[in-house]
Amino acid sequence: MTPTGKKRRGELIVLSGPSGVGKSTVIAELLSSRRDIYFSVSFTTRQPRTGEADGVNYNFVSRQEFQRMIADGELLEFAEFVGNYYGTSLKVIREQLERGIDVLLDIDVQGAAKVKERCAEAVTIFLIPPSLEELSRRLHSRNTDNEEVIEQRLQRAREECRESTHYDYLVVNETVVSAAGTILSILEAEQCRTPKRLYFIDGIVGGKNGQE
Ligand code: 5GP
Repeated sequence: MTPTGKKRRGELIVLSGPSGVGKSTVIAELLSSRRDIYFSVSFTTRQPRTGEADGVNYNFVSRQEFQRMIADGELLEFAEFVGNYYGTSLKVIREQLERGIDVLLDIDVQGAAKVKERCAEAVTIFLIPPSLEELSRRLHSRNTDNEEVIEQRLQRAREECRESTHYDYLVVNETVVSAAGTILSILEAEQCRTPKRLYFIDGIVGGKNGQE
């Protein structure tokens, strides 16, 4: 709630970065500091990895079910990534934003571009690895994909880094704590943007947006 009693709309935050860059770990760190952020659990047709739970990491669905969701217009955006579908539920996101809750999306560059198109005020952040060698090392140490899939993910990472110049912010993931800290600072600065603070001026000088 703002000082003038108007309900604040939630912030839509989009975080992208190449597979293996450490997004999930940075997100976990971020959410432990900002427990008020709602993390949007995506829908995917990919198989769960060891340790992943349905409804927690992803909502795992069949290709048929995913295609039904596309046809029924249930997705804010979706993309095909290394042979699997990934998508974001429109209904859930809309409900949270309207309740004034900030929503975090972990989506790829295709999805981020679609979100920005539909919602220009979304804050887009791209997490980059310190180097491609480091990314390759992280993908190998994860031990979840075979060499062919790792090569595809590295190839996709090169393409994604090329497209990252469209994002509002680029954050290097040197360490989890520093990357999460930088993202928190970005979110704080975003809250201080003049259009979002005009109600303070209203409170001081009266009138709408500080104008007599
Ligand atoms: P992974 O298979 O490593 O979990 O994810 C592969 C890629 O899909 C990552 O870049 C991740 O950000 C992206 N991704 C996850 N959920 C979504 C989604 O709902 N929409 C889009 N467009 N990409 C997603």
